Amino acid sequence: MNNPRANTRRGRPSSGPAPYGRQRPRRSFDGPQRGGGYQGRSGGGRSSSGEFALPVTVNPGLDPVDNFQDLDMPAPLKATLARQGLTTPSAIQAATLPNSLAKRDVLGRSQTGSGKTLAFGLALLARLDGRSAEEHRPLAVVLAPTRELAQQVTDALTPYARSVRVRMSTVVGGMPIHRQARALRQGVELLVATPGRLRDLMERGDCVLDQIEAVVLDEADQMTDMGFMPQVTAILEQVPADGQRMLFSATLDRNVDQLVRRFLKDPVVHSVDPSEGAVSTMEHHVLHVAHSDKMATATHIAARDGQVIMFLDTKHAVDRMAQHLLDSGVRAAPLHGGRSQPQRTRTLKQFKEGTVTALIATNVAARGIHVDGLDLVVNIDPPTDHKDYLHRGGRTARAGESGNVVTLVTPNQRREMTRLMHRARIEAQIAQVQPEDAELARVTGARTPSGVPVALPSEPRRENRQRGPRSGGYGGSRGGGYGGGSGFGGGSRGGSASRTRRPRRAPQA
Ligand code: AMP
Repeated sequence: MNNPRANTRRGRPSSGPAPYGRQRPRRSFDGPQRGGGYQGRSGGGRSSSGEFALPVTVNPGLDPVDNFQDLDMPAPLKATLARQGLTTPSAIQAATLPNSLAKRDVLGRSQTGSGKTLAFGLALLARLDGRSAEEHRPLAVVLAPTRELAQQVTDALTPYARSVRVRMSTVVGGMPIHRQARALRQGVELLVATPGRLRDLMERGDCVLDQIEAVVLDEADQMTDMGFMPQVTAILEQVPADGQRMLFSATLDRNVDQLVRRFLKDPVVHSVDPSEGAVSTMEHHVLHVAHSDKMATATHIAARDGQVIMFLDTKHAVDRMAQHLLDSGVRAAPLHGGRSQPQRTRTLKQFKEGTVTALIATNVAARGIHVDGLDLVVNIDPPTDHKDYLHRGGRTARAGESGNVVTLVTPNQRREMTRLMHRARIEAQIAQVQPEDAELARVTGARTPSGVPVALPSEPRRENRQRGPRSGGYGGSRGGGYGGGSGFGGGSRGGSASRTRRPRRAPQA
């Protein structure tokens, strides 16, 4: 937070405090607005940025809070917040929690890293406190676009769910469905799901949504980008109409706008402009490299003293790069949709723990994933879409910290990159570099790798046996799979349902 680079974006004015700096949301809480309907033209006008207009809240929302203690929330949740060292709500928490706890619908337009998991999670858990779900009939559901994000939501909420004895389960594709069905049969108050797998469970009769009181759509724009609109719509259609809905999305594009109009009732709106909120503590660098230098440049960066996520276009290129880095002495690991789910889970865990220092990924890792303190993201292949650029970059400079986004650009990619940065409304620093350059070292910490091949700890045999489908979280495959078993309670060993249980319940396989 005290990094001198914080709040600077070269070539642009700084845009305000870091997300958790001060309690009061800056210009982000839309507050009481009258008149009803949508801003702009009837039928939902688009703003100059191409986004649809935000709805106007008819019944004024409650005022933001400065402190978690001021919220009307069960004491165990407050105690857990304190145990986790969280005292001051982030902007989105301050603005939305008073309203979500009062069971209002919420529309949050904000980036990942803003603290939105707790913004919706605490409200869900508060309403589920003391409740008991019937078998196959959860009481609340969170929909997330990818397996990783679903697991991340589960992990983040687990200590809170445990404190109020809410049973939570994660159902995602790629792992045996019968374990997830069994978890549902035993009773789950809060279900975290990817849309494809939830639909499968519904069709089998293993999950019935007629008791659902609250639904959260997390990263709604990514869900619709991935082709999940039919599943999401079908799920929302089966949920009782009088329930609470909360939708979080970085952008308000056509599909998200449709969901908002159709399913949200007079939502309280919290909006942070993505062109300001997420990237204000990020520096952007476009580094021109000769084609022949690209591999060596990327290798020197990966050998830095610190962690990095590096993006490439294809699974094949990711695998090759990871192997090349291991051979060069860098503890690298590949992450893409062609790897089995246990492998993906393990790789992310190793990266979060620091065993892996360079995560080499396709877009599957671009959204939602949070790794503490990550200060460098490198596009070895520039993304083709400006939204992907923003999402990849969003892995760094999270929770108010600062970070660099570096894109390696070969001569034939320059024109397209200029266009992309223009569309992303980012002014980057541009430099021509070679692998040994001081400028490259200054920006990225690049250094010469040891050249001594390294190997990561080998994978347990159990993981090798459990190959998931070759579907990635990206690219429209159904649901994706998770189940790596980091939910506490032990019910998910190599299985498919991460699950929190009520204390004193008999262990379940
Ligand atoms: P999220 O946007 O929910 O993925 O959260 C991003 C990160 O911010 C996570 O590591 C959270 O633990 C952290 N975080 C969430 N709320 C707060 C808060 N009120 N104060 C400090 N950190 C927070």
